[in-house]
Amino acid sequence: MATVLIIGAGGVGSVVVHKCLQVPEVFGNVILASRTLAKCERIQAQVKGRITIDQVDADQVEQTVALIGKHRPDLVVNVALPYQDLPIMDACLATGVDYLDTANYEPPDEARFCYKWQWDYRQRFEERGIMALLGSGFDPGVTNVFCAYAQKHLFDEILYIDILDANAGDHGQPFATNFNPEINIREVTAPGRYWEEGEWKTTEPLAVCQEYDFPEIGRKKAYLMYHEELESLVEHIPGLKRIRFWMTFSDQYLTHLRVLENVGMTRIDPIDFEGRKIVPLKFLKAVLPEPASLGPHTKGKTCIGCQIEGIKEGRPRKVFIYNVCDHQACYREVGSQAISYTTGVPAMIGAKLMLTRVWRRPGVWNMEQFDPDPFMEDLNRYGLPWRILELHPR
Ligand code: NDP
Repeated sequence: MATVLIIGAGGVGSVVVHKCLQVPEVFGNVILASRTLAKCERIQAQVKGRITIDQVDADQVEQTVALIGKHRPDLVVNVALPYQDLPIMDACLATGVDYLDTANYEPPDEARFCYKWQWDYRQRFEERGIMALLGSGFDPGVTNVFCAYAQKHLFDEILYIDILDANAGDHGQPFATNFNPEINIREVTAPGRYWEEGEWKTTEPLAVCQEYDFPEIGRKKAYLMYHEELESLVEHIPGLKRIRFWMTFSDQYLTHLRVLENVGMTRIDPIDFEGRKIVPLKFLKAVLPEPASLGPHTKGKTCIGCQIEGIKEGRPRKVFIYNVCDHQACYREVGSQAISYTTGVPAMIGAKLMLTRVWRRPGVWNMEQFDPDPFMEDLNRYGLPWRILELHPR
């Protein structure tokens, strides 16, 4: 039985804790550490004391090294923020422990959403004999695994991929984000980007929109955005002609966002305020509801999946592989809304596959580089069942 160290006691961290405790035959010992100990204490109380907690500022490599030395985990699951990816990877290198995360590294002063910095660790992880699994959430994460599954079982050649992320949930707040507000707003306000015929194409933020008819939640407007899994899927799905990412937003969300942008509240550069420097987006985050607090109030469903077109046995084929998740069902099971749930469950599954050595190779890897079958089986088993819808090819 293994010891897992989870860093980050937010919405996703809480779900990872609950799901690991559901699989005691793998996760014998669960440790949760975060910057604010009180948040760990709250989760520890929810699970009736079945975890050990600790405090860490994971921006400080030496603090994480000491934490790892104290608890001796077999794996570190990083569900803090993307800013902590590289310092935690450095601590794993220093101590020889495996690493998993759900979002790519972001430098605090620039919204980039790219894997370069983490891919640069490949050789060092390989030489140290340790493994990093990048992006084991839903998107990225499950969406990468859906593509790998389609490549293995459903197509001889994949030509077009559209990743579709719809949230038809209503949290009853005028404006709130379902995961960390700072990262969410950085992502949504960035230029759109997609890959077509061998090159990246850029659009104005949220300038391209299409309506999709989503299973179980119906017609929704989805906006073209850049998302990090596009970068790795372009590398790992040969023969692709185009890949894009779409996310739905309500008109109310977009109106609030536009106003916040117009008045400068989404800026990530420091400004002078009463004699000190503050980053407007960080201040905004402090006044918005915490994602972890939305659970009790959120109703409705999410539908996230991959619409894939290509060739199978000489004929055109088009499918939609997807999961539908119900916010209230998630809350009943683990006390969180579906966005935290759909991220935390795949993080637990990725951790389980690494610890049982089903997915284990020294180096730094994206999800689609492993056999998708055991992951797909575990999605059905641990709360994120998937379906395949056969569509009419163009
Ligand atoms: P939250 O803001 O709810 O939680 C983040 C937690 O990390 C907080 O408890 C925070 O502590 C802690 N933290 C921040 N900085 C540090 C630090 N320096 N040292 C230790 N702990 C720190 O975010 P979410 O739970 O919603 O998101 C967690 C991660 O999951 C993010 O990286 C997000 O991008 C990713 N994500 C991935 C998705 C996917 O599908 N792949 C989807 C949704 C999220 P404090 O309270 O003190 O600030």
